[in-house]
Amino acid sequence: MNKIVLKLGGTIMVLFLVVLLPLGYVANQIFTNFYYNQVQEEVEEFSQKYALTITSLKNENSLNMFKTLGELTNKEIYIIDSDGNVVVEPGVQITNLSNKDIDLLWKGQPVQKMFHDARAEVSYIGSGHPIIRSGTFQGAFFVLAPINDVHEPVEKIRDLLILSAVGALFLALGFTFLLSKKMSDPLIEMEQATRQMAKGNLDIQVSIPSNDEIGSLGKAINDLAQETNRYRTKRREFFANISHELRTPISYLKGYAQVLKQGLYQSEEEKLQYLNIIEDETDRLVILINDLFDLSKMEEGKIDLQMSTIDLTEVLESALFKVKMEIEKKGLTLKIQVDESVPHIEADGIRLEQIFTNLLGNAIRYTEKGSVVVKVWNADKKIHIMIEDTGIGIPEKDLPLIFDRFHRVEKSRSRELGGTGLGLAIVKNLVELQNGTISVNSQVGKGTRFQLSFPVAE
Ligand code: ADP
Repeated sequence: MNKIVLKLGGTIMVLFLVVLLPLGYVANQIFTNFYYNQVQEEVEEFSQKYALTITSLKNENSLNMFKTLGELTNKEIYIIDSDGNVVVEPGVQITNLSNKDIDLLWKGQPVQKMFHDARAEVSYIGSGHPIIRSGTFQGAFFVLAPINDVHEPVEKIRDLLILSAVGALFLALGFTFLLSKKMSDPLIEMEQATRQMAKGNLDIQVSIPSNDEIGSLGKAINDLAQETNRYRTKRREFFANISHELRTPISYLKGYAQVLKQGLYQSEEEKLQYLNIIEDETDRLVILINDLFDLSKMEEGKIDLQMSTIDLTEVLESALFKVKMEIEKKGLTLKIQVDESVPHIEADGIRLEQIFTNLLGNAIRYTEKGSVVVKVWNADKKIHIMIEDTGIGIPEKDLPLIFDRFHRVEKSRSRELGGTGLGLAIVKNLVELQNGTISVNSQVGKGTRFQLSFPVAE
């Protein structure tokens, strides 16, 4: 038995009892009083009328007529004379009138009284009025109605009330059962699904039963499964990439070390060449490991940036100075166009320079002839920097992916040119950590343009 059913069912039961029991009691009370009053009024009216109409207590005929009238209306007639003697006896055995009652009647006042027939165990509502002729007290006329007359309709109504309450209770229980099943079934499914997810089965999807909170929980679980799955795939790819990236330089190192160890070289010059390769590959490994370390720190948000208000043009100058030799070596032209006064920005100088050297390095690396253009201008409370080249360009399908770790348009070419495939991923992270944005435009064979924007410091 699932628990929501029990909880909901129990709550509804308790609510039902809390509401219905007092309500039933009050209704019963109201009906009883209503009928009781009605019967009481009736006997009072009758006895008053009869006491007025009766002419003689001696006339047998008239007494018989009242008896018949009583029988017709299902009432008992009880008449006494002025001495308290019974003139007409009721059909039931009743208790005698008390002196107090007789006193009241003597004084011309009506008497309300309950009579009890001990033999038949029936109680009667009685009302007596004094019979007064020419100002003298002649006796009293009582009309009695059995209390059964009151209870019967009340009991019928009570039975009906109980019946409908029981019906409503069963209806409510049935409804609760269906409702809670409808609620708990998807919850059970979700519980099983999340347990499966915990075991690593991330292809699971739960059905979304409705648009309510349960539905959005289901959607959230599906999103979680999808997101975790995507994350897992990315992580797998990342590890595959890393091991591949590490394996290549290591196999070079091992290969050339073996060649040297076994003396498999013709000249000292050749030996030096192999040693140079070993040194280059070691450098590459160091760069790769540093880049990886940087990137993982950034992605975990654990990198500490030394933010301060800085002059971006100074940082750019320093980066350009570092790549100048490369540009000259390749015979490229460098064109610089910087606005007269460029406001300062809030950034980490060293990390900003890293961004520029990375982008400039790529521009030089992937450009055989032509130029590298650098522009800096101020617009819309932002400083914009453009680094453009006339190089090989990037195919459109690769454009959305080049900021991913290890994504390279041509793996072997990039490696040959000294790339690790991590540069742009690091650049994008660093730009965003310094509240900037980066975008790229490119055309294969024509060139590539990266554009950065940083907010002007307050
Ligand atoms: P890499 O170390 O391989 O250069 P990056 O992350 O810096 O890695 O760049 C990712 C890929 O984007 C490069 O492999 C290259 O294919 C492409 N790329 C980046 N910058 C340029 C550019 N200026 N011109 C052409 N292709 C570029």
